[in-house]
Amino acid sequence: MKEAKFSTKSIWAGEKEQLAFGATQVPVVHSVSFGYDDMDEWYEVAIGNKPGHIYGRNTNPTVQAFEDKIRILENAEAATSFSTGMAAISNTLDTLLFPGDRIVSIKDTYGGTNKIFTEFLPKQQVEVVLCETGDHAALEEEVAKGCKVLYLESPTNPTVKITDIKRMAAAGKAVGATVIVDNTFATPVNQNPLELGADLVIHSATKFLGGHADALGGAVCGRKDLVEAIYHYREINGATLDPMAAYLLLRGMKTLKLRVEQQNKNAAAIAEHLKTFDMVEGVFYPGLETHPNHEIAKQQMNGFGGMLSFAVKGGVATVRDLLPRLQYANRAANLGCVETVVGPSRTTSHVECTPEERAAMGIPEGLIRYSAGIEDIDDLKEDLSQAFQSLQTFVNK
Ligand SMILES: *Cc1c(COP(=O)(O)O)cnc(C)c1O
Repeated sequence: MKEAKFSTKSIWAGEKEQLAFGATQVPVVHSVSFGYDDMDEWYEVAIGNKPGHIYGRNTNPTVQAFEDKIRILENAEAATSFSTGMAAISNTLDTLLFPGDRIVSIKDTYGGTNKIFTEFLPKQQVEVVLCETGDHAALEEEVAKGCKVLYLESPTNPTVKITDIKRMAAAGKAVGATVIVDNTFATPVNQNPLELGADLVIHSATKFLGGHADALGGAVCGRKDLVEAIYHYREINGATLDPMAAYLLLRGMKTLKLRVEQQNKNAAAIAEHLKTFDMVEGVFYPGLETHPNHEIAKQQMNGFGGMLSFAVKGGVATVRDLLPRLQYANRAANLGCVETVVGPSRTTSHVECTPEERAAMGIPEGLIRYSAGIEDIDDLKEDLSQAFQSLQTFVNK
């Protein structure tokens, strides 16, 4: 039989192996441990010679269905899971990096990831080099000096900058580095870093994969030897995905393509719509021809994603006035769910930075992150229009 297409796999993959009692849906197995009457069988499972489960910190049937599904959607050799996206990132880096090692990355990674780079890895005597996001020559130069890990994220948070993954993966390979890509913003619908040469792909499943903002989770997919080492670190250190969260994420993933395609469309339409307002100073979206790396995005992405950001005139005062006027948007820190979510970057992704640090990173105080939901686009456009119009009246008084 031909290999199934993405939507079919997102519905069926990883499920059948975990079904019981004729149920058509994967059960939520809450049992902490799994018992054996046969001591020899128990031993064989415990040492990994036979499939099965021993203890919930290591493996669990519901969690395994989630891991199988994301592995198949990313076309990866192996996958493992975590309690959160940050657990996926920190467990991966802790597995791979030791005192004296060097890691090269970009300045615009997710806020939590950036904290690992600036606060925690240096304490472990790991040398961290952060290059200007989108400056491929600078990245290549630093990678060529040698590094254990090249860590990328594309598009980035919140200004959706793009890095050429194929080009950078080649640079990493040349020095024997493990190339990691955080694919949270793009999802496997829009981008497949493993096909572009990455060794590992990381997800905050909390965002688009789950898609309903009701469960935390993380995943790492890629080369089997690497994933096995990372799994071993996680099974000992304990950042395990909860079975109930695994179930919610699994259910969300069945509609991943439908949702992301609608979010791609809505984000593109909102980016165009925002350009029509006098109060908007700049719109950042990889799908816009004005985006500095639009051509790279076109080459490596199947869709430009549901995330965008825009800067408003008047800075924080305008943000404070504008956002509460939106009817169809949660003002919150998460993203990638069915509802539209908005938030100032100074409060969400870059709350840990000082205004000066944000300015240095090209993040104006009036920058708003916009995660397009799957609502009807006419309603989303109209909502922004009424918010800006009432704001205009206020400003003109
Ligand atoms: C949210 C996010 C993370 C962290 O994920 P959590 O599930 O919140 O721990 C990592 N990377 C990116 C790009 C994110 O948006």
